[in-house]
Amino acid sequence: MSEDTRQELRGLSYPDLEAWVIAELGEKRFRAHQISMWMHGRYVRSFEEMTDISKKLRERLERVARIDNLRLDQRHIASDGTRKYRFEALGGEMIESVFIPAASSDKRNALCVSSQVGCAMGCTFCLTGRSGLIRSLSPAEIIGQVSEVARDVAKDDLRITNIVFMGMGEPLHNLKGVLPTINLLCHDSAFGLSTRRVTVSTSGLLPGLKKLAEAAEPIQIAVSLNASNDKTRNDIMPVNKRWNIAALMKACREFPLAARRRITFEYVLMKGVNDSRENAYELAKLVAPVRSMVNLIPFNPHPGSRYVRGTRDEAEAFQNILRAKGIQCYIRHTRGDEVLAACGTLSDVNYVAPESDQDRQVRDAALEAIDAI
Ligand code: SAH
Ligand code: SF4
Repeated sequence: MSEDTRQELRGLSYPDLEAWVIAELGEKRFRAHQISMWMHGRYVRSFEEMTDISKKLRERLERVARIDNLRLDQRHIASDGTRKYRFEALGGEMIESVFIPAASSDKRNALCVSSQVGCAMGCTFCLTGRSGLIRSLSPAEIIGQVSEVARDVAKDDLRITNIVFMGMGEPLHNLKGVLPTINLLCHDSAFGLSTRRVTVSTSGLLPGLKKLAEAAEPIQIAVSLNASNDKTRNDIMPVNKRWNIAALMKACREFPLAARRRITFEYVLMKGVNDSRENAYELAKLVAPVRSMVNLIPFNPHPGSRYVRGTRDEAEAFQNILRAKGIQCYIRHTRGDEVLAACGTLSDVNYVAPESDQDRQVRDAALEAIDAI
């Protein structure tokens, strides 16, 4: 089968779409707005559906351009309304997106998107990290998750108000896919979200963080810290061996934050690993110099994971220490839990299984990949 050389349009940033429409299509600027609003405002999947464009031009578009679409494979709706989507990406791989509807009081409907199939970073507590990086997603495959879910939830009069890059993959390891997506999310002729409502979460790829600050719209940043000292962070996040906590915190202090914004530090609480009182004091000291808040995430067990989630009381005690030090700190509610119910109930056992050979292999592969960045 010969390769499809037609220009893919869904994943073009808005300025790139405009340039293509003018230079390659020989059409006016306004056509870009029209095509973009069909794809990103009304979530259509083909030129045929763009009914206010002449048939002649639609046929021409068909010849010179294409729109890459994801295929919905599965949708699961949990009792709290959380929707987990499984899509087939263009190479046949499966990727996931999770829609988290507003808790009763706010109107924040967040969609969590994937940026890669698998992940090279090899964090020991993360299911995605275990597979290594299969490949990075194209911009069309990332923004496609947003379109498909937006269209699905619209049937129930719901709207996506926030996007978080917290699904599979390390977004800053795929800037080629993520930067055009951010542009489309925030552009008025595409999704038109406020930059406050788009969050990229990173394990701490510092060159990527710098490029993000230079290149993209001023979106929100979340940093997966997950440990209060280098010893523990080296153990659970191989990326720390390349960019340690001091370097990470320096980059965070220097990150050009817009007025009244904060960096979110994510901290997955794992019993007996990073959840002691000392860890809480250490963490408070680390984050205090950064305009930030801390999001404590109770560990989510998955098949083969050797960590354990502590109790709600333990998480609250940890939170209270941070709050007493003046740090803004929240515990993330685990939503859509039943989706993972089959993963077993490791609750109160104070036991961290020893590292296996497979764990070590994952970590070695990750270190090699990270060294090559
Ligand atoms: N790669 C990026 C974004 C995807 S991971 C990053 O690491 O930030 C999104 C969040 O899920 C991260 O904060 C990560 O620490 C957290 N996470 C990974 N595995 C988890 C688990 N088993 N339980 C709870 N949180 C987890
Ligand atoms: Fe998982 Fe994020 Fe670590 Fe990748 S960087 S292994 S997605 S926690």
